[in-house]
Amino acid sequence: MIKSLCVLGSTGSIGTQALDVARMRGFKITALTANGRADIIEKQAREFLPEYVALADEKKAAELKIALADTPVKVLSGSGGVEECASLGSDAVLNGIVGIAGLKPTLAAINSGSALALANKESLVTAGALVMKTAAEKGTPILPVDSEHSAIFQSLQGCRDKKQIKRLILTASGGPFYGRSLAELKDITPEQALNHPNWSMGAKITIDSATMMNKGLELIEAVWLFGVAPDDVDVLIHRQSIVHSLVEYADNSVIAQLGVPDMRIPIQYALTYPDRFESPVSRLDLAECAALTFSKPDNETFRCIDICREALRKGGLYPAAVNAANEKANAMFRKGLIGFTDIQDRVEKALEYSLPAGEYSLDDVFETDASVREERQVGI
Ligand code: NAD
Ligand code: MG
Repeated sequence: MIKSLCVLGSTGSIGTQALDVARMRGFKITALTANGRADIIEKQAREFLPEYVALADEKKAAELKIALADTPVKVLSGSGGVEECASLGSDAVLNGIVGIAGLKPTLAAINSGSALALANKESLVTAGALVMKTAAEKGTPILPVDSEHSAIFQSLQGCRDKKQIKRLILTASGGPFYGRSLAELKDITPEQALNHPNWSMGAKITIDSATMMNKGLELIEAVWLFGVAPDDVDVLIHRQSIVHSLVEYADNSVIAQLGVPDMRIPIQYALTYPDRFESPVSRLDLAECAALTFSKPDNETFRCIDICREALRKGGLYPAAVNAANEKANAMFRKGLIGFTDIQDRVEKALEYSLPAGEYSLDDVFETDASVREERQVGI
C-alpha cells in the first residue's frame, strides 16, 4: 500500500481529483507540480505541505518562491524541476500532466522506482515502446488512471493467461457531436466543442473527445498497456458513460466495470490497487439509468480512430507524429485559428511523413514531435 505520493499536474482536472483522493486516504504528498498556475499550487502547497513544488513556467516559479517563503516548501522551476519532483522516489507518482510534456516525467518516475499511476496517455502514445521497456527493466508497475483502461485493468483481474483474451472493447461517449454529418461539423465553435455531455475535464481532452481523437489515443494506450494487437481492440459508442470498458474472453464471456462517470474511482483504484475503499463517488443506481445503449462508431465522419490504428500499423514514430499533429491542431482550434474538421485533416497528414520504422530513441520522439509541429520532414 502506498503512503507517499507525488502529483504531477496537480492544478488540472485529474490533479485536483487526485488530491481529493489523497485527502481522503491520508497520503503524504511529497511533491506537487504544474505549468503556471502559481495561485492554485500555492493553496495546495499550504494545505499538503509537500517537500517540493515545481512550476514548469520559470517566471511563475519565481513568483511562487516569494509567495511560499514563509513555509518550508522548496520551489523548483522549469521542466527540469518537474522531472526532479517525479524522481524523488515517492511510493507512487500520479502523472496528470497534459500532452507530450508528461513523457520525460513519466520516464523519471519509472527510473526512480516509483509506481506510476498514469493519466497522461500521451506518454504511451508518443513513446509506448520506450516507456514499457523501461518499466519492465525497472520492475515498476504502471497503473492506468484513464477510466477505460482502469475498467479493462479491473476486468482483467484474475486472468492468468493473456491468450484467454479475445478482445478489449473501449467504450466512447461519442462526445457532443455524435450523430452529426461532416457538413454539420464544419462550423462547430470551440465553445460548443468544450461542452462535453458526461465528463468534466481539461480543455485539450474535451476537444479530443469531440473529435474522437481521444479514443484513437486510447486505442494506442491500450495496445501498449495490455500488450494486445491493435485489431484486438474495438470501440463501442455508449452514450451514458456507465460501462467504462469491457474484456471479451475465449469462452465469449464479457466482463466489464461499471460506475457513475467520476474519475476519482479509477484514480483511487490506481493508488490503492489491489484493494478497494470507500470513495467520495456516488453509488451507481442501475434502476435509475433509463437505458444503456451501445452502437458502432461512425468512422467515416470521425476519422481519428482509424488514423490512430493506421499509425500503430505503420509503427515506430508514427503514433508520435499523429500525436504532435493533434496537439498542435487542437490548440489552434481552441484559439479560433482553424476549423473543427481541420483537426482530423491535419492529424491524417502526419501519416504521410517519411519516418524511420522500428526502434527509436527519446531524442527521435522529440525530433519527430518538433518536425511535425513545424511542418517540416524528418531527416532520416
Ligand atoms: P488539465 O488541462 O486540466 O491539467 C493539466 C495539468 O498539466 C495542469 O496541472 C497543468 O499545469 C499541467 N501542465 C500543462 N503543461 C505542462 C507542462 N508543459 N509542464 C508541466 N506541467 C504542465 O488536463 P486534464 O484534463 O487533467 O488531463 C491530464 C491528462 O490526463 C491528459 O493526458 C488527459 O488525456 C488525461 N485524462 C484526463 C481525464 C479527465 O477526466 N480530465 C480523463 C482521462 C485521462
Ligand atoms: Mg478515457
